[in-house]
Amino acid sequence: MRERILSNATRLVIKIGSSILASQTGGLRLDHVQRLSNEVAQLKRDGREVVLVSSGAIVAGIEKLGLSSYPHTIPLQQAAASAGQSHLIHAYEHSFHEAGHNVAQVLLTHQDLADRKRFLNARHTLTTLLELDVIPIVNENDAVAVEEIRFGDNDTLAAQVAHLVDADLLLILSDVDGLFTQDPRRHPEATLMSQITDITPDVEQGAGTSRSRESRGGMVTKIQAAKLVGQYGLPTLLLNGETPGLLPRVFTGSEDGTLFLPQGRKLPSRKHWIAFTLRPKGQLVLDSGAVEALTLRGKSLLPSGIVDVKGTFVSGDPVSCVDATGKEFAKGLVNFSSDVVFEMKGRKTQDIRRERGTHDYEEVIHRDNLAVLS
Ligand code: GLU
Repeated sequence: MRERILSNATRLVIKIGSSILASQTGGLRLDHVQRLSNEVAQLKRDGREVVLVSSGAIVAGIEKLGLSSYPHTIPLQQAAASAGQSHLIHAYEHSFHEAGHNVAQVLLTHQDLADRKRFLNARHTLTTLLELDVIPIVNENDAVAVEEIRFGDNDTLAAQVAHLVDADLLLILSDVDGLFTQDPRRHPEATLMSQITDITPDVEQGAGTSRSRESRGGMVTKIQAAKLVGQYGLPTLLLNGETPGLLPRVFTGSEDGTLFLPQGRKLPSRKHWIAFTLRPKGQLVLDSGAVEALTLRGKSLLPSGIVDVKGTFVSGDPVSCVDATGKEFAKGLVNFSSDVVFEMKGRKTQDIRRERGTHDYEEVIHRDNLAVLS
């Protein structure tokens, strides 16, 4: 299985974490940029397409601006990232040029991908760059990304990019060997899990919460990223990016790292976007009949199955659908505002029509705008 996945993976999204690129004293490890660029060039020679998602802007900025430590305020982080991003790209540009490759810088925020038009534009740009044999190097647009519009960490960004370019495999390179049975920093007896078929709560628990000083993510965000792309039918490989030669070696039979297998069912791209790119503005609590109609019979959501409405939203907003126990099982785009849904909830369509006249829609969420989670 592993061999087949890796040998068939042509389009790769490779995330390089800050922990690999940061030196002990602060600043960018140019030797690691150089080595990883050469390893990526090797993959390119084997006929693979690569999109890099690289962190490291903030650490590069710390050195460039002469800051004494990792910045703690958002404006200082943004300033460091802005100053560091050009240094980071320059380092990649230089290394890849020596290896005979062109690179392009692409900076994104969550807001760019939450807008369907901009999402499709970004998709066209990235796929055109790949057609032109250029290596896109993506990072979060830290200079403008405040809390509400940011991805927050580059594991999530890389997962979104893997969906965006319809990759075959997401590779996450960090300073750990993969996922262990327990947090290896606290439990030396922990063992590496080489393959994960299903991301169960046990798997998530083993991840621990520790993370290095430079990176925003930790093992939890890496597992979330694997979950996110898994529902789009993509596998994820977690790999130690500090070990020289490992990146090309995994494509020729080395068993290193942890491979997360994809879910059997692949959500169509637009439904995956509704479920995993958009952030729900509210919640609809549904009765068991509606849960069954949506999950087993592929139906649209009608007002009669709604028990409660939480949050404030307007027509067209993304909302989350939960069962009576609060478990989320679907997400979709609503046709009515939260006030209107609140008035309609639990009532039969004919009664609503009789009392209020016809609406443009009968469904609260149409099945075409509904993504049922696995
Ligand atoms: N975008 C940040 C940077 O380039 C890093 C985010 C992360 O570490 O996940 O420094």
